[in-house]
Amino acid sequence: MIVFKNVTKIYFPNITAVEKLNFEIKAGEFVILVGRSGAGKSTILKLIRKEENPTEGHIYYKNLDYHKLKPKDVTLLRRKIGIIFQEFKLLLDRTVYENIRLPLEILGLSAKEIYRKTEEMLRMVDLWSHKTVLAKFLSGGEKQKLSIARALSTNPEVLLADEPTGNLDPISSMEIIELLKNINSQGITVILATHHKDIVNYLNKRVITLHQGRIVRDENPGKYTLI
Ligand code: ADP
Repeated sequence: MIVFKNVTKIYFPNITAVEKLNFEIKAGEFVILVGRSGAGKSTILKLIRKEENPTEGHIYYKNLDYHKLKPKDVTLLRRKIGIIFQEFKLLLDRTVYENIRLPLEILGLSAKEIYRKTEEMLRMVDLWSHKTVLAKFLSGGEKQKLSIARALSTNPEVLLADEPTGNLDPISSMEIIELLKNINSQGITVILATHHKDIVNYLNKRVITLHQGRIVRDENPGKYTLI
């Protein structure tokens, strides 16, 4: 589903973030990217959503070559590949409901569809009772649940999670991880970047370990190891 062929990314002026990456992620997989800060995890996620372009090599999504995508295709690609972040990136002065409604409005859904989808997403993450609360008043765990609901509202095939538990306490972290497992069991491909050892070992899924921008291990199931 996602293929990296000899992918290198060099940031200006001369920072090699990832080098000669080769891997394939199949539809429905749960893949964990592990590595120290600066190892290249976020760069891989940005390349997958085509927020950055490789300096060398090719990336494919369902056989579509990223080099050949037009701007319209990139918009569609990003709808198919949702993302959540450590820092949530919510509209903090908007309500829980509006955080889902506004992006769906931009997509041009009808008012009825927006209501139905927003209710479905908020019930899935147990936040329907909080729909009128401003996002800034939510706890960290609730904020991450809201970002997951927002990311899934466009029916993506893939969910990328960039250190989603980085700002959370252990119990909220486990809730988010259980939610990701659940989402994956419904057929959505999940790619999780993390350096939480306990989470990696608990999940017992495929682990791609990065060191200085290179893949040093790719095992299924894998364990947490740092080089
Ligand atoms: P990780 O997510 O594993 O912490 P990153 O992918 O964020 O790693 O970073 C990999 C390397 O690329 C680091 O050395 C980082 O400083 C560098 N880097 C990331 N983004 C940029 C950028 N926009 N410009 C220059 N260097 C960058």
